[in-house]
Formats: sequence, C-alpha cells, structure tokens
Amino acid sequence: MNIADKFNKGKTVLSFEVFPPKKTSPVETIYGTLEKLVELRPDFISVTYGAGGSNVGHTVEIASKLINDHKIDALAHLTCINSEKSHIDRVLEEFKAGGIENILALRGDIVPDKEPCHDFKHASDLCSYIKEKGNFYLSGACYPEVHVDAADEVEDILNLKKKVDAGAEHLITQLFFDNNAYYRFRERARIAGINVPVSAGIMPVVNKKQIEKMVSLCGASFPAKFSKIMAKYESNPEALRDAGIAYAVEQIVDLIASGAEGIHIYTMNNPYIAEKITSAIKNLL
Ligand code: FAD
Repeated sequence: MNIADKFNKGKTVLSFEVFPPKKTSPVETIYGTLEKLVELRPDFISVTYGAGGSNVGHTVEIASKLINDHKIDALAHLTCINSEKSHIDRVLEEFKAGGIENILALRGDIVPDKEPCHDFKHASDLCSYIKEKGNFYLSGACYPEVHVDAADEVEDILNLKKKVDAGAEHLITQLFFDNNAYYRFRERARIAGINVPVSAGIMPVVNKKQIEKMVSLCGASFPAKFSKIMAKYESNPEALRDAGIAYAVEQIVDLIASGAEGIHIYTMNNPYIAEKITSAIKNLL
C-alpha cells in the first residue's frame, strides 16, 4: 500500500524507525525487537540503509520480514550519493523481490575525502530515476531546522519542492526538539506549495552520548527546557530515559493537538521506549 494513502483519514499516522544490525552481525539479532515493535501496531515501520549500501541485504530482509511475516507496511530507506545507477538497479530488483513498494529516497551524507559517485547528486535525482523505473511509492526526508548543506531556509524549501515534484508523495522530518521549528517549517512548506503529508520525526532521549552525536550530525537545537533535563539527569541513566520519554510525549501531544498528520518515532531499536510512548499517546491518535 502507498504509505501516503494512510494519511488524511481522520487519524494521526504513527510510524517507527529501526536500523539494521551491523553487517557483521546476523540479521536475526533484530527479530526479537521487531516482534515487540510490531505488537504496538504502528501504521508502518521504516528501515534505515547504511550509507553507500553497506548493509543493503539487512535492510531488504528486515523490510520484507515486516511485510510478509508481520503484515506491517515497511518503508525501506535508500541512499544514492555513493551509488552508480547499476547498483540502484540491483537494489530496486531486490526490493521488488522482497515485496517492498515504499522507498524513502535519500541522497545520503557526503563523506569527507570520499569522491561521491556522479550518477546522483540529490535525492530528487533518485526520485526521478526510481519513478522512471517503475512501481514504487516514494517518501523523502525534510529538515525543519534546514539541511546543513543548504545556504538558507528559502533555498532548502525550494529544493524540497523539487524533490516533491520529482515524486516524493510523503515526507519525514529530521528529529527536532523544538516544535516551533516544525511549525515554522510547515508554514514555509505551504508557501512553497508543498502539500504532501509530513511525519514529524521524534527522537526520545535514550542516553546523553547518543543525543549529542545525533545533534552534532544533524544540527537540531535544544530548547532551554530540554537542556535543563539533560543537565539535571545526565548522570542518572534511568531518570534521563524517563524524562526523555516524558519530553517526547509532551512534544507529540502538542504536535497532534496542532494537527500534525504523522508522528515518526526514532525508536533506536528500543521497544521499551516505543511501548511507553505508544501507550501514552494511543488514545490521542
Ligand atoms: P537532499 O534532498 O538531496 O538534500 C541535500 C542538500 O541538497 C540540501 O541542502 C538540499 O537543500 C540540497 N538539494 C536537494 N535537492 C536539490 C536540487 N535538486 N538542487 C540543488 N540542491 C538540492 N542517511 C543514511 O545514510 N541512511 C538512512 O537510512 C537515512 N535515513 C534518513 C531518514 C530521515 C527521515 C532523514 C531526515 C535523514 C536520513 N538520513 C539517512 C540522512 C540523510 O542521508 C542526510 O541528511 C543527507 O545529508 C541528505 O539527504 P536528503 O535525502 O535529505 O538529501
């Protein structure tokens, strides 16, 4: 089913993100986690993709398992910046064979000192290429606090419009901790004529190190309220986790009350956290 068709049906669309185990670990190591996540009945689960296609096999296996064994729609991520067209062709064949219809089409991060492949420059190029090739539904990434490579928010939103025009029918945001950044982004998107449904990406705090790493990579800002939690509980992992869950729930309640069409939880493969959040918001969706 086209993931975009799940939206605007009178219910907020709930989704989770998982990442595959390392290439050197058997894919089965994530199966227990999947079973627990599936029990929470999200509307779909997205499966990340190692930059450069390092563990494409795991992405395909996990997404296919969700679709075929658990009967849950899966969204397989796919990056293009380090891939030739022939590699993308092979991956699309694998997706097709695994019953995968929904793809989150991504550029991927540019790795310093690594010459990118020149077949695809932007996610919009991948969208156009996949659309030419055949029967896939496309989602894309978007950035409430502006993508780090973009000169400014105007340039970034105009580029996002190109991705939507190239075939992305649904968007998922980068994580953010300040809902106002999301609301301002939605206004810019509307002005730019971007009318596809958007899933708001929420990352609950799992531990301090992980959040610092994510934020240094994606540039999300910390509201004062969030920084206070970090400072107070940084040396108490359980308290930090519980406060992080409470913060995420508060963000989600505000988003749903403000009309967000979708909530995408970066689960960090942690069913405990997904379960706590889901049970707190299930009556609000
Ligand atoms: P693009 O849409 O290509 O944008 C990148 C930059 O180029 C932006 O500054 C944009 O303004 C500009 N741009 C875009 N289109 C054009 C155009 N047509 N002309 C000129 N400029 C343009 N990475 C992984 O490796 N694996 C994953 O599984 C993964 N999953 C992700 C999931 C989500 C929801 C998000 C938000 C990110 C994910 N990433 C993943 C990270 C992502 O690969 C990086 O953020 C990457 O730097 C940008 O990817 P993109 O698809 O948004 O790129």
